[in-house]
Amino acid sequence: MSNSHTLLEFDRRRLAEFLAARNEPKFRVAQIWHALYRDLVSSYAEITTIPASLRQALIDDLRFDTIRPIHTAVDRCTEKVLFQLADGEMIEAVLMRYDQRNTLCVSTQVGCSLNCRFCATGQSGFKRNLTIGEIIAQTLYFARRLRTEERKNRSKISNVVYMGMGEPFLNYSATIASVKILNDTDGFALGERRFSISTIGIIPAIERFSREKMQVNLAVSLHSAKDALRNELIPINRTYPLAALIKACSAYIQRTRRRITFEYALINEVNDSLSDARQLAELIQGLLCHVNLIPLNPVSGVDLHPSSAKRRDSFQAELKKRGISVSMRLGRGLRIEAGCGQLRVRKA
Ligand code: SAH
Repeated sequence: MSNSHTLLEFDRRRLAEFLAARNEPKFRVAQIWHALYRDLVSSYAEITTIPASLRQALIDDLRFDTIRPIHTAVDRCTEKVLFQLADGEMIEAVLMRYDQRNTLCVSTQVGCSLNCRFCATGQSGFKRNLTIGEIIAQTLYFARRLRTEERKNRSKISNVVYMGMGEPFLNYSATIASVKILNDTDGFALGERRFSISTIGIIPAIERFSREKMQVNLAVSLHSAKDALRNELIPINRTYPLAALIKACSAYIQRTRRRITFEYALINEVNDSLSDARQLAELIQGLLCHVNLIPLNPVSGVDLHPSSAKRRDSFQAELKKRGISVSMRLGRGLRIEAGCGQLRVRKA
């Protein structure tokens, strides 16, 4: 085992195999698992339940963690952290502290290959997928931090949304594996319903996800109900056009009986007319779904603007009138470029 591997990419079964190969007694699995996911230790040295010899063997063979926080930006209750990975690449994650919950937004890739016109991440191209360990490490980092704050009832992460940098469904297996590890009831124990995965609409992955039998929320980034416009905003719409995408969403809903959230960034005079709202309502009519409207977050170098308050209110009202369940997500962390689609590492 080379030490580019990390302890955090092991599920319980692989941890058990790893320890069995070293002739460790079975109870060591639970000791290490509890140290990592319940006690939230941040180094091998803190795993005091195991013998020093095993600690040393772990240090020699297996990295503990592969992400290092190097910068933090705070805007009121939103905190963005820049992490450096073992190979020098950078990613960001964002914690949003609300009254009753703490929502963490994690990245799944370094950069992104999709190149959506309105999104900052795609501007610097795609570098690589994150490993399971790198995805989990983002959550553990904030979980440890929150625990030290001891705000009443709010010292834990309550939701993890896979809506940071990258496309989770183009890093499918690491994404799903990270959810399963964090969901383990004997460990971190975050319920499946506390996770949301957001996809641009990778149809084969939606199909695959519908068979996972997981209670994880699925969000699909729609942003337009017209192929011509969606092609322009989201190049991969040419591969996975709307009719096929909606068919896949419908099959997902039928199979899982779970509601889909459609995300729609309102871009001034681009996709926010009443006729756009009507076409959206028609497209998703009858589906078990909810529409989440997000006024576009400004991205430097992109000549697109958030809809005016008047236009976004009329858009929302039009959807309501047509019986669509809809809400508006207002920008958070915009001053530190921690809003939806703003995550982009500037390597100075
Ligand atoms: N690749 C995934 C997750 C990444 S971003 C996806 O596309 O769903 C999470 C959400 O933020 C997506 O709905 C994305 O379209 C949206 N987003 C990207 N750039 C944005 C911007 N500038 N303003 C508002 N939302 C944006």
